[in-house]
Amino acid sequence: MIRLAIQKKGRLNTDSLELLAEAGIRVSDGSRQLLTASDDFPIEVLYLRDDDIPHVVAMGVADIGIVGQNEVSEKRQAVDEVYKLGFGKCRISLAVPKSENYASLEYFNGKRVATSYPNILRSFFDEKGIRAEVHDIAGSVEIAPSVGLADAIFDIVSSGATLVTNGLKEVEKVFFSEAVVIANPGLSCEKRELLQQLLFRFDSVKRSKGMKYMLLNLPNEKVDEVVAMLPGMKSPTVLPLAQPGWSSIHVVVNERELWGKIEALKKIGAEDILVLSLEKMIP
Ligand code: ATP
Ligand code: MG
Repeated sequence: MIRLAIQKKGRLNTDSLELLAEAGIRVSDGSRQLLTASDDFPIEVLYLRDDDIPHVVAMGVADIGIVGQNEVSEKRQAVDEVYKLGFGKCRISLAVPKSENYASLEYFNGKRVATSYPNILRSFFDEKGIRAEVHDIAGSVEIAPSVGLADAIFDIVSSGATLVTNGLKEVEKVFFSEAVVIANPGLSCEKRELLQQLLFRFDSVKRSKGMKYMLLNLPNEKVDEVVAMLPGMKSPTVLPLAQPGWSSIHVVVNERELWGKIEALKKIGAEDILVLSLEKMIP
């Protein structure tokens, strides 16, 4: 049995549960119980505030966790970062009031900066030789300058809309984060084995994200040209059709490139193009 800590409520909760479901592991959503087991895999899921996950994994109360790199880096706990999940992407940036003339990092010398990430910010300022006052506040960091609590802030930014609403502008992007799997460094052999099985499933889910399965028919003499423009897991599959002189091509393509490829394929002479959703990609 392996115990996984995930966020109880918030931006990482849905993506974490969806990842588990796509990896064939169904668990209740944590709204009623703090700890639930799954019938599908020897796993228990512990629902926590994201701030607590690095500590709980370092202590071994949970064996592994899903949490943002921002929290891992800030909390400085002894955990191993074992897999990048590709969701929960954000950055932590320095922002100053819109009206300020900002030229360089020197600006922050002698300034008061409010943040919920004091460790990350202090290391950054130390590394750059900036002497600023770092004020650790738990929430509503973005209003600190307008109420006179600070001159600037260091906070999570995704679209930047919250900054604009609060009369701020982003001036330095300092830390880039995404959700990761962290593990206790002293896992038993049995738990390591379960972790490897989980990561294998997570990887298959991540690989198949945004991928489509495409089939098309093509005169034989056009096959080489089409194969050259379509990457496959190894290369496209080419099968003969019952109708002489024609082949069927099967290939996995990224959804973002799909329409571009379809247009190019039509020009070459492809017919009967089918696009299907792709469940899993196992290398
Ligand atoms: P908790 O109650 O669990 O402490 P929280 O309020 O600290 O929740 P959320 O806002 O739910 O945290 O964000 C959780 C994590 O999601 C962040 O630590 C970060 O890694 C990630 N994240 C991704 N995009 C964003 C964003 N636009 N704003 C905030 N966090 C984001
Ligand atoms: Mg939190």
